Amino acid sequence: MIIGAVEAGGTKFVCGIGNEKGEVFERISFPTEQPEKTLAQVVEYFRDKQIESLGIGSFGPINIDRSSPQYGNVTTTPKPGWSNFPVLTELKKSIDVPIGWDTDVNAAALGEATWGAAQGSDSCLYYTIGTGVGVGVYAEGRMVHGLVHPEGGHVLTRRHPDDTYGGKCPYHGDCLEGMAAGPAIEARWKVKGSELPVDHPAWEMEAFYIGEALISAILLLSPKKIILGGGVMHQMQLFPLIRDHVRNGLKGYVASSALEEGGIDNYIVPPGLGDNAGLCGSIALGLRAYEESQQR
Ligand code: ADP
Ligand code: ZN
Repeated sequence: MIIGAVEAGGTKFVCGIGNEKGEVFERISFPTEQPEKTLAQVVEYFRDKQIESLGIGSFGPINIDRSSPQYGNVTTTPKPGWSNFPVLTELKKSIDVPIGWDTDVNAAALGEATWGAAQGSDSCLYYTIGTGVGVGVYAEGRMVHGLVHPEGGHVLTRRHPDDTYGGKCPYHGDCLEGMAAGPAIEARWKVKGSELPVDHPAWEMEAFYIGEALISAILLLSPKKIILGGGVMHQMQLFPLIRDHVRNGLKGYVASSALEEGGIDNYIVPPGLGDNAGLCGSIALGLRAYEESQQR
């Protein structure tokens, strides 16, 4: 079975094809420009691929409420041309297969639960710590939707006692994204995160903010696995620092061996699908859309 996948990002679009085992056969990527132009490139890519279904994991915020007339739209993005643009409706004009549509991070969580680090589990959280911070929530075997969709990148955390930086989020200032996304690291330390040495104090501070957010998420949602991806998480020294912060912060209150020394190394983990997490997530969305169409 050939499944199409689109990872629709604010800076680039990745399109690819794969199968029901999550194997990726090929991928291309192009910069995100005006929606008409970018979506025409998507349609052109899939024209001769004979896909049986398609999954789209999109940057947001997006409308994922199937009963809404605006279902399939990007909603309130500052990105020129994309605000309120009907992405799904536009693609459906030319692509006549079942299409799955969700946030990029919900898709990544689904992909990790289907083939990756949370394989076989009915719950996980997927965090991306990159240009922004996004959180996908997979619980009881499905992506969590609600009023809109989870926006866990913008939760508020305690401040690090040594941090004087004001925060970079245009909406909330010092929310998680405002304090811990790649641009916040660069603004605070005046150098790109990728250029900071691994023993720089920046990483203890970074682990503090991510760890604070994870503590709240664990208490609220009780996920069976937490996956941390995105450019900033290429700094592998963050993993032990974050695990320590979470364990010390919970103080043994949540009674699970997954949160104890040893167990936590397999609980807070990098993406099992590596840099394919996004694309595989979209393949998983496409697979679900196909399965749903067969049940009707
Ligand atoms: P996006 O979030 O735009 O999809 P990424 O996940 O690659 O893309 O995140 C890009 C951000 O991550 C940038 O702010 C960049 O500075 C930061 N980043 C990328 N690689 C690294 C690295 N190795 N170490 C620290 N920060 C990084
Ligand atoms: Zn915010």
